[in-house]
Amino acid sequence: MRDGILVINAGSSSIKFSLFLSNGDGKPLLSSKGQVEGINVAPHFIAQGPDGTVLSEQHWPADSDLNHEDLLKHLIDWVEDHLDGASLVAAGHRVVHGGPKYASPVLVNDSVLDELDGFVQLAPLHQPHNLAPIRALAKVHPGLMQVACFDTAFHTTNPKVATTFALPRQLTEEGVRRYGFHGLSYEFIARRIREIAPEVAAGKVVVCHLGSGASMCAIDGGKSVASTLGFTAVDGLPMGTRTGNLDPGVILYLLQQKGMSAKEIETLLYKRSGLLGVSGVSNDMRVLLESDDPHAAEAVELFCYRVNRELGSLAAAMGGLDALVFTAGIGEHSAPVRERVCAASAWLGISVDAAANDRHAELISADDSRIPVYVIPTNEEMMIAKHTRAVVRQLAEAAQ
Ligand code: ADP
Repeated sequence: MRDGILVINAGSSSIKFSLFLSNGDGKPLLSSKGQVEGINVAPHFIAQGPDGTVLSEQHWPADSDLNHEDLLKHLIDWVEDHLDGASLVAAGHRVVHGGPKYASPVLVNDSVLDELDGFVQLAPLHQPHNLAPIRALAKVHPGLMQVACFDTAFHTTNPKVATTFALPRQLTEEGVRRYGFHGLSYEFIARRIREIAPEVAAGKVVVCHLGSGASMCAIDGGKSVASTLGFTAVDGLPMGTRTGNLDPGVILYLLQQKGMSAKEIETLLYKRSGLLGVSGVSNDMRVLLESDDPHAAEAVELFCYRVNRELGSLAAAMGGLDALVFTAGIGEHSAPVRERVCAASAWLGISVDAAANDRHAELISADDSRIPVYVIPTNEEMMIAKHTRAVVRQLAEAAQ
């Protein structure tokens, strides 16, 4: 019997899903994907094939009182009708925070769920939305195994010095430290590097995950040793709408001199800053690169400058650099951003082949580049499907 694994990635207003069905040798293959968006506003469901062909679409009116649970029920009913003879064995969820405890995916039960609830205060904008569908699915599909896969888990190999803030020890012990995120993406990339260039995988690699959320990670011998995201997902690089690294004195200024409330500052840091805040034009790199507005150009310049500075910092953290990888929306598709970052990093011996970069080749470095530069598409959903399948298999083996 072929296995079906449903991958769920839920945010504040959308639930994204991917359905993986195992092929002949048991490997998960994407069968369909889609999302419910506009939750609590005007819900819209769409399901597509792996090539983007629309398989199903439904709109509900703005005054429909469908909640998370109703929409998840619609989604799961659609999935069950499209299993193509396979049986749904588990759902794998992207969960942003595994706290200090979870270094690997875990089968969710009530006590695990309670523990994950305890990490809501560490990621208040993401964690509640990641946990809501786990609860809803337990109600609409009791008995279905559910596995939580954490964005923090890949970074649990970071040495203590890389995770510690210079704060009084008691706060560090309470969990106020750097965790790092985008771990499922970095783990996928680390595995792909092993396939593409095994000699590089043993060395020191910096991966730039440049999407609407952006970060960078230093991976030494396949293990994360440092990253630009810290206690929350607002640290490090400027992002679509998030500030990235900011002098904490700015927060004090906003509180004390500008009289802003904590909620207003949260909105400023997460929703009104980054590329959008600097450009005043858009949070989308495509729009900025095409814009004639000098503020758009400034936002692009700042983004590339920050990536370049973090590259130096992460290389220093590893004591060297053997390869550079670009991934995610901007990293995979924006030749001008890669070109600028690499030009600024020429001092590291990096040199790019312009034609290879323009056609988004897998290897974009020039023959004389001291280190190879790769463009590798990430696939967090596939990573979640693989983890979920591994947890299900371990449980089946243990039961034998
Ligand atoms: P998320 O972090 O939401 O998963 P993605 O990794 O899909 O985001 O990245 C989305 C971002 O990638 C978009 O906001 C856009 O800025 C950028 N992007 C996508 N395609 C291009 C492109 N061709 N050129 C420049 N930027 C792009």
